[in-house]
Amino acid sequence: MTAPLNEAHSTSPGPRLPDTQQGMRRRNLSRVMHAVNAEGPLSRAAVASHIGLTRAAVSTLVDELIRSGLLEELGPERPGRVGRPGSALALSGRGPAGIGAEVGVDHLAVCAVDLRGEVRARAVRHGVNRSRSPESVIGELTTLVEQVVATAAQDGLWPAGLAVAVPGLVARDARTVVRAPNLDWHDTDLGALLSGDLPLTVDNEANFGGLAELWLGEGTPRDFLHVSAEIGIGGAVVVDGRLLRGTRGFAGELGHVPVRPEGPRCACGGRGCLEQYAGEEAVLRAAGLTPGEDRVDLLAERAAAGDKDVRRALRGAGTALGIALTGAVNLLDPQTVVVGGALAGLAPWLLPSLERELARRTAGPACSVTVSRLGSEGPLLGAAHSVVRGVLDDPAAVAGRP
Ligand SMILES: [Zn+2]
Repeated sequence: MTAPLNEAHSTSPGPRLPDTQQGMRRRNLSRVMHAVNAEGPLSRAAVASHIGLTRAAVSTLVDELIRSGLLEELGPERPGRVGRPGSALALSGRGPAGIGAEVGVDHLAVCAVDLRGEVRARAVRHGVNRSRSPESVIGELTTLVEQVVATAAQDGLWPAGLAVAVPGLVARDARTVVRAPNLDWHDTDLGALLSGDLPLTVDNEANFGGLAELWLGEGTPRDFLHVSAEIGIGGAVVVDGRLLRGTRGFAGELGHVPVRPEGPRCACGGRGCLEQYAGEEAVLRAAGLTPGEDRVDLLAERAAAGDKDVRRALRGAGTALGIALTGAVNLLDPQTVVVGGALAGLAPWLLPSLERELARRTAGPACSVTVSRLGSEGPLLGAAHSVVRGVLDDPAAVAGRP
């Protein structure tokens, strides 16, 4: 996912060293950053023992990262330890930030996340994007990005890159939206529409949602299926800690897995797709409600109040999800299915029928189903964190910027 960003990063100049030495230095800088990220504040000695380098070698790397504004010293460690007290190192709360953006069917959102993973600025605009031109939507998104970058700058943060989550298929170039049926966008090059020179990555919202689950979820295994919903239904397949992308980058289109081959027509051109039974609009119609803003909250409220029509509609959606997921579970044998996005808020009424269907139909023992803690925030956070991960993976590439 961060590949295009890393490719962009790797072209930035570094000291002129032989390739192998240069490559080794860059990898070691990254190992220091990842050690501090994973283990929290660490002394230089602790970093050294963690990554298996000498303390002298680590000190050189750490000094470079401090000079670049990527690490900071928190002051002496608490007394009582043997030897000279070291200063604990933490990822910087200033310096580079990941800018994440989300183009939803009925909203736009942007946030800035610092190296420590904290959201430091955000902006949201509600309003339907469906019938608007990509130029107009992306123009508005650019304004939100500028607002967030300006707010973050007040805290000493600068943007290391921009990652945009979209509800559609994204080409392997990580900038062209090949097809977004619910926005009616086709072959739209977001790289050409977004002004500014930030390194850009565009990806499917469900992919970013899946990555957010992998990076931020509590106890998320390294093999799982992530299923999420907005207007459409998205899926992400994570195998051994990596997103499965497929040949063209379109893997995970769970929303267009047929549930009933002769069912209603879908925007994708198929019939009876999962989206026609468990997508937000389908569930609202089945519950006798009209589509509009904050409808998921309304569904949850009514279901909690015991509304029979709403509960029946959600049961039906859970059954359809179970049928579609059965195929994926039988094929991939994941450790768990994570239900995220807007579906997470409806889980109490979706899960029983979903789990029943899965248990009834899967060949092996029933696969566990868990509910995402991130909910609808997943894609936006995943986008911003993908930029932050890019910095951790190759800190040398951003040293010396902005
Ligand atoms: Zn479809």
